[in-house]
Amino acid sequence: MTQDIKSVVSRFRCPCCGYKTLQAPNAMGLCPVCWWEDDGQEDFDASDVRLTVNGQLSLQQARNYYTLIGAAHPRFLPYVRKPQVTER
Ligand SMILES: [Zn+2]
Repeated sequence: MTQDIKSVVSRFRCPCCGYKTLQAPNAMGLCPVCWWEDDGQEDFDASDVRLTVNGQLSLQQARNYYTLIGAAHPRFLPYVRKPQVTER
């Protein structure tokens, strides 16, 4: 039973910044490290602009921004935080 509980609390990797910040995949979780909202977009459609929760932002663009400035978009900079050791 301990194993089951552990798998529930284990986190999922954010498709944008790559840190383990999400409680569940594709669950509209907001990543506190890059502020990407996980709507299920992944590598295979990373360049699509879905016009959903992330607005005009594609996953590929968000990744580029994260590499450059440490947030999925410049307007998210006031909200993001550094990843914790346990999230790596
Ligand atoms: Zn992230």
